[in-house]
Amino acid sequence: MRWSRYFIPTLKEEPAEAEVISHKLLLRAGMIRKLTSGIYTYLPTGWKALQKISAIVRQEMNRFHGIELLMPAVQPGDLWMESNRWDAYGKELLRFKDRHGRDYCIGPTHEEVITDLIRREIKSYRNLPLNLYQIQTKFRDEIRPRFGLMRCREFIMKDAYSFDMDDPGASRSYEGMRQAYVSIFEKLGLRFRAVEADSGAIGGSFSHEFMVLAETGEDTIATCTDCDYAANLEKAEVTCQGPDCDECSMPAERVSTPGLHTVEEIAGFFNVSPDRIIKTMLYNADGKPVAALIRGDRELNEIKLKNILDVQTLTMATKEEVEKWSKARVGFAGPVGLKVSRIVADLELQFDTDWVTGANETDFHLRHVDLRRDAQISGYFDLRTITEQDPCPRCEGNIYLTKGIEVGHIFKLGTKYSQAMKATYLDENGREKLIIMGCYGIGVSRILAACIEQNHDQNGIIFTPAITPFEMVVIALNIKDDLVREKVEKIYEHLKGLGIDVLLDDRDERPGFKFKDADLIGSPVQIIVGAKGIKNGVFEVKIRHSGERMEIPMEYFSTQIARIRNEVLVHYGLSKNNNYL
Ligand code: ATP
Ligand code: MG
Repeated sequence: MRWSRYFIPTLKEEPAEAEVISHKLLLRAGMIRKLTSGIYTYLPTGWKALQKISAIVRQEMNRFHGIELLMPAVQPGDLWMESNRWDAYGKELLRFKDRHGRDYCIGPTHEEVITDLIRREIKSYRNLPLNLYQIQTKFRDEIRPRFGLMRCREFIMKDAYSFDMDDPGASRSYEGMRQAYVSIFEKLGLRFRAVEADSGAIGGSFSHEFMVLAETGEDTIATCTDCDYAANLEKAEVTCQGPDCDECSMPAERVSTPGLHTVEEIAGFFNVSPDRIIKTMLYNADGKPVAALIRGDRELNEIKLKNILDVQTLTMATKEEVEKWSKARVGFAGPVGLKVSRIVADLELQFDTDWVTGANETDFHLRHVDLRRDAQISGYFDLRTITEQDPCPRCEGNIYLTKGIEVGHIFKLGTKYSQAMKATYLDENGREKLIIMGCYGIGVSRILAACIEQNHDQNGIIFTPAITPFEMVVIALNIKDDLVREKVEKIYEHLKGLGIDVLLDDRDERPGFKFKDADLIGSPVQIIVGAKGIKNGVFEVKIRHSGERMEIPMEYFSTQIARIRNEVLVHYGLSKNNNYL
């Protein structure tokens, strides 16, 4: 590709609208442009990078027995009502009516459509197992679309669905996809981690997320230093054991605490540390009042709470709800005498006593509270978010927290959809059985952003060789010089002949301007050709990731290009045999 005839509208200025580095650089490198909130046009180099990502995804999906198809983006509401997700999916589902007044949505995911297809087409055990996938545009009306391609409303996803006869088969399918994902992210040259995760609105029983490690990631990952345990913070288990404690020796006592609200204020007043205080957090769970108890120095994990309560919607109680349910102003709720439908407590509250809690009366707290003696607790559960002070739930090793960007998510669905939508098959004995399903997503467009979050410097993007729109850029220092023009054309043709995706910067611009643009668009290798070098029989090469520059004699062009190419592959953990293109 010749830059002068191509379309890469780079920007010199920082775009004001962008907060995170990948968004800034995607705009500045001329890869994307915003149409409206959370909806982007992929410009030629952006699209080229996405196609490279898709090619690797396809290659590995096919290798692990996936079969590609393409389903419609527009889906009938009826199917979503059948699976009971029409209401449960909430506002992220973009709904509309057609001219006949029938309900439709734009697919945020395709479990319903594929289950409908399978229940019509698959009749016998002979047709199973099956794994079908597509690479397609999805729409989710995200509450806060942000960070460019990281959290869009319209984005590209690879979604795969597996269908098996039984649980062992479903586990094999899941394991195959896990391996395919590992292979995909390795070939993309990204540093990543597979972690245990929550299943969210997709449902199902078991899931792993694939996280690209980057400081700017929205997700936090809890990893063990000693074993291979890694989990999303939303999910990471906190274990807690201890001997049963004796009943508190003193009776609960009501104490006037006017105007004290925060844990610190209350701890100060009672002259105890925050871990002696119980926070009583009130929630509206599917319309019912629920209280969750947690130690004053801990953080409640709402995802764990929602899973434990097994409800569709969980929202923090409003000021009015708190006042109605606790009969006191906000800040004075407590478990003793509280009239709510359930009171659940964090595990560690089970092994201790003599707590300070709210008294369900404005300006009063209770001390010497014994939960077993004084309150009606429905159960003790793992309710809090893990910290670096907690032991690994598997091996008791140390936990450390890192940041990641979720680029893939695999789920064991079991019979959630096949049951709701009656997707069955006949086994060897002619008995009708439910198909066991799995689903597997990859955020193809989010990968592009994640790659940049992980690989950039102050001058621009540093693409991995698998994702870069152009593997090499040839920079002509003065294109008006006939010798230079002749030489770069030769080099350009030669590199193309080697199967290298190369961009020739043949624009009539100053060298400094071209160097800046080349750094910005992030090709792994830059080849710089000027009149002086030609006279001396050399050309210059710059390796983008290390910034290393070297002069190479023209006569060794081919061998040196092969060596440099290999060096770049090795840097990203890829070998020469790795067929990433
Ligand atoms: P998140 O927690 O980030 O909202 P999710 O759990 O809703 O993600 P899935 O339903 O598992 O996502 O979708 C599969 C993949 O699609 C995700 O792993 C992610 O890479 C990508 N993805 C999801 N939502 C978006 C979005 N709004 N913009 C871009 N990519 C997305
Ligand atoms: Mg989501």
